[in-house]
Amino acid sequence: MKTHTTHLLVIGGGPGGYVAAIRAAQLGIATTLVEGQALGGSCLNVGCIPSKALIHAAQQFEAAVRAGSGHSPLGIRAGAPAMDLAVMQQWKDGVVGRLTGGVGALLRKHGVEVVSGWASIVDGKTVEVAREGAEPARWRCEHLLLATGSEAIELPGLPFDKGGGPVVSSTEALAFTELPRRLAVVGAGYIGLELGTAWRKLGAEVTIIEATSRVLPAYEEELCKPVLASLRRLGITVHTNYSAEGMTRSSDGLRVRSGHADEFVVPADKVLVAVGRRPRTGGFNLESLQLAMNGRAIKVDARCRTSMQGVWAIGDVTGEPLLAHRAMAQGTVVAECIAGQRREFAPLAIPAVCFTDPEVVVVGQTRQAATEAGITHVSAHFPFVANGRALSVEAGEGFVRVVARQDNHLILGWQAVGAGVSELAAAFTHSIEMGARLEDVGAIIHAHPTLGEAMQEAALRALGQAIHV
Ligand code: FAD
Repeated sequence: MKTHTTHLLVIGGGPGGYVAAIRAAQLGIATTLVEGQALGGSCLNVGCIPSKALIHAAQQFEAAVRAGSGHSPLGIRAGAPAMDLAVMQQWKDGVVGRLTGGVGALLRKHGVEVVSGWASIVDGKTVEVAREGAEPARWRCEHLLLATGSEAIELPGLPFDKGGGPVVSSTEALAFTELPRRLAVVGAGYIGLELGTAWRKLGAEVTIIEATSRVLPAYEEELCKPVLASLRRLGITVHTNYSAEGMTRSSDGLRVRSGHADEFVVPADKVLVAVGRRPRTGGFNLESLQLAMNGRAIKVDARCRTSMQGVWAIGDVTGEPLLAHRAMAQGTVVAECIAGQRREFAPLAIPAVCFTDPEVVVVGQTRQAATEAGITHVSAHFPFVANGRALSVEAGEGFVRVVARQDNHLILGWQAVGAGVSELAAAFTHSIEMGARLEDVGAIIHAHPTLGEAMQEAALRALGQAIHV
């Protein structure tokens, strides 16, 4: 078998792996990236990007439906719209194609060797690649970077139907070419809510089943209230404190059960199981390295080094939070460490965004986290109903909240819920990473009229100086 040599070998071409490879090449490191499926990983192909494209299409359709029903408060009147799902899916795939093609072009431009095939670890410095249409080959490297990502968790009673059956993961639920008349969604985390809401807006009857007592259980209840209200307004049925047991014998319904053994059937043509993702550590002989693990995730230190010298890991395979921007930031750190720079992955805040309706953003510490950390803090919120931009774009629901230290007003965290608040995530994160105090944000001129003014007003309110509330 032919053996090639390289300095850095990256397994996985998702946002972690491809960013690490490009940054390493920029720093003059001979880099090879092995990808078994498609460049861009889960994020570009079956995650962040297609889900946001689907959500956008659904929002546009819903607005047209409102206009068609004669209920648009803006006075827009139109005929009843129709949705051509095949065209919508083509458009969505086109967005994905442009971005994945762009990643391929960037890798080429930077001189990264891209190998299509599944990698299997031989030892900490050798990887064998099974290539489609070519002989398997080996690569020897000085540094091995594991960026193999994550996979959807299956429920024991509801395994994913590979052959077009009713039980699907988010991957298939992004690609329906026929509208599921009745869609049951198991799991009310952000993926379940994002996709459930989108398919409801496109016309499906949607029922959400959640085992805990509320939707978005990982987020503060106050932030989730507008989301729950919107689910109800859209006509989505939500059953909390129920767990999914399995399909009915005839496969046309989902059996659900409460903690009190109360059981019933949710009629469903499709069942989306969205109960979380787990690090992808199986199938490529990772176990042979006997790395220290954190549960199912590969354990890494602040420089993303594993327990074996010369073997690094980033992104979803290293565990929570499973977010694309975290994977990318870790990828940069690893490339720069290998280039000899003294770098660590030690962010003060990693923004988390739910592209629900309305959107939710959490950056840094919540009030509860600050209390648990023993920090005496102040907090204040500014409601969008008092923000001119929000009202003028029909987005008066929700608020921005700031949490800061009481002694020196150093900003610790931001939380927001409202239409379009995902775009505030950058400003929230900047303020924390740059060590801003309430006075800094309060004194900075925020363009009028923008949603960002709510951020300034929340800071001013925490100082007792809010103008518009
Ligand atoms: P991945 O993107 O999973 O990439 C890993 C790559 O490694 C894959 O391409 C895989 O084929 C390849 N690979 C694995 N094993 C091998 C092998 N042995 N040989 C060769 N190649 C291999 N995150 C956000 O930040 N924002 C969002 O809005 C968001 N929305 C999401 C929506 C959905 C529906 C889903 C499923 C996920 C979403 N995520 C979101 C999560 C995000 O997609 C992941 O956090 C991110 O993709 C992780 O990047 P990664 O590089 O670690 O792994």
